[in-house]
Amino acid sequence: MSEPLVIIGNGMAGARLCEELSRRALGRYAIAVVGQEPQLAYNRVLLSSVLAGEVPANEIALKSSGWWRDRGVTLCYGDAVTAVDVAKRMVTCADGRTLEFAKLVFATGSRPIRLPVTGADLPGVVTFRDMADVATMSRAAGRGTRVVVIGGGLLGIEAAYGLAKAGAAVTLVHLMDRLMDRQLDRRAAALLKRAVEAKGIAVMLEAATARLIGDDRVEAVEFKDGRTIAADIVVVAVGIKPNAEIAAAASIAVKRGIVIDDHLSTSAADVFAIGECAEHRGVCYGLVQPANEQASVLAERLCGREVRYDGSVNATNLKVSGVHVFSAGDFLGGAGTESVVLADPALGIYRKLVIAGDRLVGAVLYGDTVDALWYLELIRTGIPVEHFRETLIFGRALVERQAA
Ligand SMILES: Cc1cc2nc3c(=O)[nH]c(=O)nc-3n(C[C@H](O)[C@H](O)[C@H](O)COP(=O)(O)OP(=O)(O)OC[C@H]3O[C@@H](n4cnc5c(N)ncnc54)[C@H](O)[C@@H]3O)c2cc1C
Repeated sequence: MSEPLVIIGNGMAGARLCEELSRRALGRYAIAVVGQEPQLAYNRVLLSSVLAGEVPANEIALKSSGWWRDRGVTLCYGDAVTAVDVAKRMVTCADGRTLEFAKLVFATGSRPIRLPVTGADLPGVVTFRDMADVATMSRAAGRGTRVVVIGGGLLGIEAAYGLAKAGAAVTLVHLMDRLMDRQLDRRAAALLKRAVEAKGIAVMLEAATARLIGDDRVEAVEFKDGRTIAADIVVVAVGIKPNAEIAAAASIAVKRGIVIDDHLSTSAADVFAIGECAEHRGVCYGLVQPANEQASVLAERLCGREVRYDGSVNATNLKVSGVHVFSAGDFLGGAGTESVVLADPALGIYRKLVIAGDRLVGAVLYGDTVDALWYLELIRTGIPVEHFRETLIFGRALVERQAA
C-alpha cells in the first residue's frame, strides 16, 4: 500500500520533490499536491523573462500535465490549504475538502512584503511574484506609462528592465546607496548602475519612500526628503516573507520561516518543510538552488536513506539581457579573508574573489561571467585553491592550461 504524502504548494520546491521522489521510489507514496495558483507548477525564475517578452508565458511550465498523470500525482491546483491538524494527520482546503496524510511537506514559498506606508494598497501598486502579477504589469505598462519600481535588488532591477523594454518610462528607486547591495560590492554595483541607466532606466539611490499618493489609484510616490515622482504604476519589490502562518497555527515551530533541522523535519513528527518557507540553521533562502538541494535530500530521506542537509551557498545571476552579473558566497569578505581583484573599467569588467585560508569563499563577477559556475563549484566543494591561486582570478581556462 502506498503511504499518503501531501505537499502543500505547487511551486518550484514541491515540483522538484515530486520529480526526485518519482525517480527514486515511484509508487511508494500516493502523492497529492495542493497548490494555490490556478495552473501547473512553472519556473518562477523565468517570470522576469516573460515580463521582458523574451519567453512566452505558456512555455514556462516545469512539467506537462501528462508528466504528473503518468506518475500518479494527484494535483489539486487553484485551491489553498487553510488548516493542518497534525494530531489527526489531516489537511483542510479552502473548498472544504480534507486530505489525510502519513507524511506532510510544506512547500509554500514566500510572498512579497508590502510597503509599510500610507497608500501601499492603492490600485496600481503591484508586486512581482507570480504569473498573475506579470499579467497585471504587462496589461498596465505600455509605451510612455510612468512606472516607479521600489527596490533595487534582483527582482526590482528585473522588473524595471522588463517594463522599460515594454516602452514604459521607468524610475528605479532604492533605499541603499548601491543597487543589489546584498549581492554586490561597491565597484560591481557602480558598474551595474551604469548599465541599468544605459537601458533607459532612471536610478535613484538613498531614496526612502514616505507614502504613495492617490485617490482612486496611485498617482505619485513621495520620498522622505520631500521629492515626488508621478507614477501610473508602482512596483514594490522590497523583499519576501515566508508563508509560514498555517504551520504556526498548527503549533509547528516557526521563527521567520518554518524551522527545520538537518533532516528537513519540522518540530512535528512526519512533517517537513522545503524551499523559501523553511528556515534552516537560522537562514531562509530566497533562491531556487537551495530549494532544489533541500528537495533532493528530503526525497532521499523519504526513501529511507540517512542523508543530511548542511545548508547551501547563496549564488545570484541577474537576468537582464547584456548585463552579466554573478555573485556567490561571502562576496564582501571580512576578518580573516583576503580579496583578489581584477578590473578593467574601460571594458566594464570586474572580478573579485574572496579567499579564506586556502579556500575560495566568495566571488563577484561583473561583465564576464563565463567562469561563474566554476567559481561556485570551488566555493561549494571547499577544495583547496592554494596550488593555483596565482592564476585563479584569470579563470578556469588558464588554471587548467597551466595544470596540463
Ligand atoms: C520574478 C522572479 C525572479 C526570480 N529569479 C530568480 C533567480 O534568478 N534565481 C533564483 O535562484 N531564484 C529566483 N527567484 C526565486 C525563486 O523563484 C524561488 O526561490 C523559488 O520559486 C522558491 O520555490 P518554492 O517552491 O519555495 O516557492 P514558490 O515557487 O513560490 O512556490 C510556493 C507555492 O506554494 C503556494 N502556496 C502558498 N501557500 C499555500 C497554501 N496555503 N496552499 C496551497 N498552496 C500554497 C504558492 O501559491 C506557490 O505557488 C525569482 C523569483 C521571482 C518572483
